[in-house]
Amino acid sequence: MSTTFRPIVGIDLGTTNSAVSYIHKGKPEIIPSPRKERIIPSVVLIDPQGHIVVGEDARAALVAMPDRTIAAVKRKMGSSERISIAGQALLPQEISALILKELKSYVDEKLGEGEKEAVITVPAYFTDEQRRATKQAGELAGFVVERIINEPTAAALAFGLRNKKKDGHVLVYDLGGGTFDVSLVEMMSGLMEVKASSGNNELGGEDFDWRLVDWFAEQIMAEQGIDPRNDIRAKALLKEEAERVKKGLSDDISVNVELPVVTMKEGAPVGLFTTVTRERFISLIDDLLEETMVCVQNVLRDAGLQKDDIDEILLVGGSTRIPRVYERIENFLGKQPRNDVNPDEAVALGAGVQAGLKSGALAKSGLVVTDVAPFSMGIAVLKEAGFTSRPGGFATIIPRNTTIPVTKTEQFHTVYPGQTAVQIEIYQGEHEWVKYNHKLGEFLLEGIPANMEQEEAINVTFRYNLNGILEVTASCVSTGEAMKVTIQDAINRDSEAAIAESVRAIEELYAQSKEAGDEEEEWELEELLADAEWDEDEDIPAEELQTEAERLLKQAERLRASAVGRTRRGWRE
Ligand code: ADP
Ligand code: MG
Repeated sequence: MSTTFRPIVGIDLGTTNSAVSYIHKGKPEIIPSPRKERIIPSVVLIDPQGHIVVGEDARAALVAMPDRTIAAVKRKMGSSERISIAGQALLPQEISALILKELKSYVDEKLGEGEKEAVITVPAYFTDEQRRATKQAGELAGFVVERIINEPTAAALAFGLRNKKKDGHVLVYDLGGGTFDVSLVEMMSGLMEVKASSGNNELGGEDFDWRLVDWFAEQIMAEQGIDPRNDIRAKALLKEEAERVKKGLSDDISVNVELPVVTMKEGAPVGLFTTVTRERFISLIDDLLEETMVCVQNVLRDAGLQKDDIDEILLVGGSTRIPRVYERIENFLGKQPRNDVNPDEAVALGAGVQAGLKSGALAKSGLVVTDVAPFSMGIAVLKEAGFTSRPGGFATIIPRNTTIPVTKTEQFHTVYPGQTAVQIEIYQGEHEWVKYNHKLGEFLLEGIPANMEQEEAINVTFRYNLNGILEVTASCVSTGEAMKVTIQDAINRDSEAAIAESVRAIEELYAQSKEAGDEEEEWELEELLADAEWDEDEDIPAEELQTEAERLLKQAERLRASAVGRTRRGWRE
């Protein structure tokens, strides 16, 4: 196979499963693993010999080696909290990079060695720092990250390529393992315009599993008076059983649980024998499904559409196999979702389509896609509340569902006589008070001439790019003094030093993995389970805690009271 196009691949880096695709003969195609798996579990294992194992074998070791395995790391993306695995403390993006490196090995095998560009998908509702962490994971894995795109948009693209002639409104409902997204896309002869997005980046199949785990634990507590969730291995076992039961209930109306040993009590085994009916399961998760339906209503409202205006419904993500999900959507929209969409592969295939649009491999398709910012972004201001003004009001600069990329500027002013600095606090969310929204970052604009209150104007510019990453600039109008930041948290995760450190950590892991590989050729799961060590939960070193404390002190110093007030609404594109 020879192509003149740059090799760009599309990657679905999921909470539960991941997959990679590329364009072959005008169509997106999954690149399978050497064992012919089309999707692999997003699970990492560092085995007792130090090997890095990613995918099904790592997933199979979750219960036996809970302290050597990591699943659902995507839920931690964007956080600076280190995750302990096999005695090491790794950042979420470093663990994600191990998953991406595994996928990259399939790509290198298929397309040959050499530089690879990648389009990586994220939930539409991912925050700025979650997107940055994803981009960084891609780079740590050795990809040139061409673009970060939203998962439901990717799924719509895969559909769009197959249905170019179709016009109308498509609703994409994506319920995976860790996140939920819903997007409304308008299709007009190849032009695909995302009209509105909504979702919850902390809602998915994992939560359904945990609801079942809690239900199991309550039964054991009632009968035996001990909470099995306090035993890390019992908890992993119940979680695995919960997922098995949940999946079983997608086919059958009841599933039996027969676990002779869940945990131990005074030297004797404690088991669990029960039956879970579909009705029971629905009662455990229906409030979560209700939340997803509220999001569906929100996108309809935001897009100014009625239920009847929806022409096609695409169900994406493994959790849409739950019959209750299908039923609720069908009941609400009065229409059957399409049954020709592969819920496991649609996002990866769509990422491949985006990659093909980029590389030129799909240049002739005529497909064009535009996306939106899924949430409002703005800054904290002094807000009038009754007869007084209170800090912590939210002034929107980019309203949600604005088509991206977008640049907007708004003018604010000083609020105290003699004020020479303003703290620009950046938030995303929909609430009029910032404390209910999500903080993206902050910086101090200094050097404002001392003047009467309201006399100094400050321009704040938000630039939201195609990757959904925000850049903020603030400048003092009278002096022209500008300050620019890309939003990042106070520990400066994007700094070169931090990235170099991550690169080093990953190289070291691989060096260990390789050494172990040289010692003994073959790696047998049974052997591995036999000599697994259970209890080496190493803590974060003292020096790191020390620097963390210093950081917090510095941050506190910077946070002297310096507010900003809103002037007038004046968008400038
Ligand atoms: P992600 O995009 O988060 O990686 P996936 O789309 O792969 O997730 O979906 C994984 C989720 O789907 C898991 O929570 C899994 O338990 C769930 N799932 C997979 N198959 C079924 C099924 N037959 N019934 C119910 N849930 C399922
Ligand atoms: Mg997914």
